[in-house]
Amino acid sequence: MSYRYDTLAIHAGQPDDEATGAVTFPIYQTSTFHQTEPGVNKGFCYARTDNPTRRALEENLAALEGARYGVAFASGMSAIHGTLSLLSAGDHVVSTQDLYGGAWRIFTKFFAKFGVEFTFVDTTDPAAVHAAIRPETKFLWLETPSNPLLKITDIAACAAIARHAGVRTVVDNTFATPLLQHPIALGADIVVHSTTKYINGHSDVLGGVVITDDESLAAELKFFQNAVGGVPGPQDCFLILRGTKTLPLRVQRHCDNAEEVAGWLRNQEGVARVFYPGLAEHDGHAVARRQMERFGAIVSFELDASVEETRAFTRRLKLWTLAESLGSVKSLFCHPATMTHASVEPEVRRKVGIGDGLLRLSVGLEDVRDLIDDLQQALEPFRTVSAGRAYA
Ligand SMILES: *Cc1c(COP(=O)(O)O)cnc(C)c1O
Repeated sequence: MSYRYDTLAIHAGQPDDEATGAVTFPIYQTSTFHQTEPGVNKGFCYARTDNPTRRALEENLAALEGARYGVAFASGMSAIHGTLSLLSAGDHVVSTQDLYGGAWRIFTKFFAKFGVEFTFVDTTDPAAVHAAIRPETKFLWLETPSNPLLKITDIAACAAIARHAGVRTVVDNTFATPLLQHPIALGADIVVHSTTKYINGHSDVLGGVVITDDESLAAELKFFQNAVGGVPGPQDCFLILRGTKTLPLRVQRHCDNAEEVAGWLRNQEGVARVFYPGLAEHDGHAVARRQMERFGAIVSFELDASVEETRAFTRRLKLWTLAESLGSVKSLFCHPATMTHASVEPEVRRKVGIGDGLLRLSVGLEDVRDLIDDLQQALEPFRTVSAGRAYA
């Protein structure tokens, strides 16, 4: 019997505890497991290799992505590291251009020194993906919606091009969550998540996961997980599992609120542009409609303002919290040019369109009227007074 998302989120990987009947899957806070004779155990021998709470999380997340194998890591970056470890010196990766700053950093500053080459292209254009593939290309790395401009890549079209060339497709599905976008069904081989974000959802734990339906890839990832050891502890796995139970419910409300905020922002003076795939004028709207259930809850917008005016705007917001990260019950916002994407060189930032007046909102679960009221008071100085602008 195959269950639907709301049911899987609560049940997958988490049977009632056999030993005690505990209804909530326990935290197995142990580093090692008793062997009755050398080499004879109850399926677990050492917690870096496997731990029951971690296994429950891995099975839960794999089920939500419609795949068989999940491999959990201590952070999203550690999951990305694990995925890239499938490569060898001389391999080549074609990647989305405006990707998560930390992913860009580990590609160009860490794996590049081990002889892995990266080419960044605008993956919203499948022809550009096709043109960038070389004989030594092993991965097509996609992030959609992208960060922070919410560009939409057609996963099915790009994965088909990659498959034809013998290249594996990896999708960082952090922004969309397993609920809104199903990369494996669209032809991807590997899905990566920072579980720090929506999956955990409460801004209180770091985590990452790599998911695949390919048995040999899963075996290689498991080998890496055990060999390198960047694993999450059982308490963190428990917290993330607590998060997944309400993920379907939270994601729906996140989307409701984000749609309202995006629709409101685009009619405001001082706002030059709103980036949200749910808006009909967004370049990726048609593809997003096709490949996503809804449009997510990250909304970016460009203030018609200098860096100083943008900073003054951030100081006026009271309810929105200025912080890196996203996907929390609490509404967060950031200034990509000086925060999440500060590690990206200024020319690269400008080239991909991350301007000095760009702000990224992670719309939380507060009453959306309060969220909008706060934005409204912060935008007040931008309102036209007779001929000129109040802030002029
Ligand atoms: C946050 C994030 C990561 C990195 O995850 P951490 O848990 O912070 O290590 C990777 N990709 C995307 C899209 C992210 O938002």
